[in-house]
Amino acid sequence: MTPERAKRVRKLHDRAVVIDCHNDSLRAIAIGDTRYNPPKEGPPEPRRLWQKAESGHWDFPRALEARQSGQVTNILVPRPRNGPYLRTCLKSYQQALRDLEHAPELAILATSAADFERAKREGKVAFLLGIEGAEGIEGDLDLLHLFHRLGVRTVGLTWMYRNEVAEGNWEDTGDGLSPFGRQAVQEMNQLKMLVDVAHATEQTFWDTLEASNAPVICSHTSCRALVKGFGEHAPSRYLTDEQLKALAEQGGVLGIFFSANRELDDDNADVHDLARFFAHAAEVAGAEHVGFGSDFDGGFPPPGLEDIRGLPNLTSALIDVGFSDEELLGILGGNWLRVFREVLRE
Ligand SMILES: [Zn+2]
Repeated sequence: MTPERAKRVRKLHDRAVVIDCHNDSLRAIAIGDTRYNPPKEGPPEPRRLWQKAESGHWDFPRALEARQSGQVTNILVPRPRNGPYLRTCLKSYQQALRDLEHAPELAILATSAADFERAKREGKVAFLLGIEGAEGIEGDLDLLHLFHRLGVRTVGLTWMYRNEVAEGNWEDTGDGLSPFGRQAVQEMNQLKMLVDVAHATEQTFWDTLEASNAPVICSHTSCRALVKGFGEHAPSRYLTDEQLKALAEQGGVLGIFFSANRELDDDNADVHDLARFFAHAAEVAGAEHVGFGSDFDGGFPPPGLEDIRGLPNLTSALIDVGFSDEELLGILGGNWLRVFREVLRE
């Protein structure tokens, strides 16, 4: 990166409320998952959110180095079906609180758009908690209310499997959202929680857009039109152009995950290749409906994005594919902030 480019990128990161709408860092730390960015030598170091590590993808200190102001993370839902769901979610939630309480100078628990703006002003990370897979509410709307009271503000309806609410990518019989799932989506609308269709089957996606009276988000996905290799993913893990348009028309935002090698079936794919997914999504849905959904600590980002500190390299690649500064301020976080303001309303 030339010094002028580095200066422009830094200025953009300073102006924007930089938000990433999905990582798995709390989950990875909770279960000691060390597959992601492992140490070059020696055994993996134990990680905490407040502690700067060199392995793994994300923690509060490294996020602040990248001038990030907001992160949505998911509390742990056991995989694949080994439960107990509620206990595991609550223990993971408690771990998030413990780490937040340990480092009030680094991060705050976020429940509203205003919290992200405050974090930006105070030089901290706003940490918004979600559930990835409605198994976590065990088919009980009272538990949805309880999680809301605890400050959880987003629910991904499914992970890869079918649950009481809907079908996910690996178990797709075409049933989509269940009658209970419809109720759950409407309850989330009432509670002012975000409804997240990442990992939804196509039928689940369309049923959810129809059931929700608020914009729906897809926190971490990518563009099916560009994918050459699905790997272990099902095609429905990626949104079609038609889905991109529909999500945007309802006021939603999609997060592009930081993955390009698998999708392009190219081991040499880098941040510039990743930037093309952002360009495609923006061309189809409008740049104001595109954001980051890194999947850090849950995916395998391309070279240049070894951890969150590589984010300026992606911003620079986004400049190269033709985004204006105004569009970039949205992609860097302004678009998430807008949908948070509209949906979370507090
Ligand atoms: Zn995921």
